Amino acid sequence: MKAQIITIGDELLIGQTIDTNSAWIGAEMSRLGFDVWRKLSVHDLREDILVSLKESAGKSHVVLITGGLGPTSDDITKQTLCEFFNTRLVINLEVLKMIEEMMKRRNFPMNENNRKQAEVPESCRVLKNGAGTAPGMWFEKDGTIYISMPGVPHEMKYIMTEHVLPELKRRFASQVIIHRNIMTYGTPEARLAELLTGFEADLPSEIKLAYLPAAGIIKLRLTGTGASNVLVNNIIEEQVNKLYSVIPELIYGENEDSFEIVIGKLLRERGKTISTAESCTGGKIAHMLTSVPGSSIYYKGSVIAYDNKIKSELLKVPQTLLEKYGAVSTDVAESMAAGARDLLKTDYSVATSGIAGPDGGSDAKPVGTVCIAVASEKGTISEKHVFGNDRLTNINRFSIAALSLVRRQIISR
Ligand code: AMP
Ligand code: MG
Repeated sequence: MKAQIITIGDELLIGQTIDTNSAWIGAEMSRLGFDVWRKLSVHDLREDILVSLKESAGKSHVVLITGGLGPTSDDITKQTLCEFFNTRLVINLEVLKMIEEMMKRRNFPMNENNRKQAEVPESCRVLKNGAGTAPGMWFEKDGTIYISMPGVPHEMKYIMTEHVLPELKRRFASQVIIHRNIMTYGTPEARLAELLTGFEADLPSEIKLAYLPAAGIIKLRLTGTGASNVLVNNIIEEQVNKLYSVIPELIYGENEDSFEIVIGKLLRERGKTISTAESCTGGKIAHMLTSVPGSSIYYKGSVIAYDNKIKSELLKVPQTLLEKYGAVSTDVAESMAAGARDLLKTDYSVATSGIAGPDGGSDAKPVGTVCIAVASEKGTISEKHVFGNDRLTNINRFSIAALSLVRRQIISR
């Protein structure tokens, strides 16, 4: 079962709007067992839209189209669909009534543009839009289904969820496609691939493996295809168990797990608390930890010790350490973590001190250097890493490295 996506709109091609519609549609269609094999983004231009439609004909079972359905002159998808399907625009009374009611509720007078929105190609089936004014449209021609929807994401999602997905599910006896993600951290992609050479060679043919790296985290996506949920889930489960035995120390979670979510679970289970003492990350770790709902149970607070004076006065980092090793050192990071743990009275405390850049690096401590430490009743541990040159990327990577150390310290015996 093949599907393809066409997103229409100048804004998508000049980088003004990110095409989130096709990502969402791709995920949903894939869940139904469709192979979304191509997506195209085109201008609001008659010729370009026509070419994209002609190119899709006969190559997919379903073509999903979004955008260009607004009432203004720049949106021309409807007229162009009429041309492609050799039909004409007619007023749909049901849609007209809905638009009139919506305008009345909002206290706006109807105008010519609103009436235009009630015009639909005569040969289509109208898909009611409960989230806006422009309806969706369902066409069938020479064995291909074409579905046109508004570009506004929540309106597209309404039409997909209410009309399109249920009908496609009914009509296409589905092959099951299941994705499972294993989250890894701590080794570069090339090294991870080397560690997994044997695992990859032994993968059954129904399972595909993809490496998806971002900020030091590598998501391993296992995709299984087969006749039933149970069958595919079993094969994936077997492979996941194998992964856990090959790279146990690199796996920190599954699917959409982030370090902050995993740490939250671990702290809750153990009834422990945490605080942060951040220099170079400036509160990023606190933000990540507190982005998790319910974090108030285990997250207590932070000292953003950007200046050395704060490090020494609030966190009691000895002046001698700062002078001897410099602020960016594992000794100072350890002292910051221990100081914050005392001050904020938590079971764990994590500290960062580093050089995010672009300035401030030296031969001994280049831009991208970070020292991180975690203090706890098990003692205080620290690490030094050197990342890249981009400031925001560094801050992100420093924070993730620190959270990884926190996780390791929590689960260590
Ligand atoms: P339109 O249906 O072309 O009038 O689109 C209305 C609005 O929806 C645009 O201004 C965009 O902000 C948004 N939009 C259109 N296409 C997409 C897309 N593929 N992904 C995300 N947003 C979109
Ligand atoms: Mg548009």
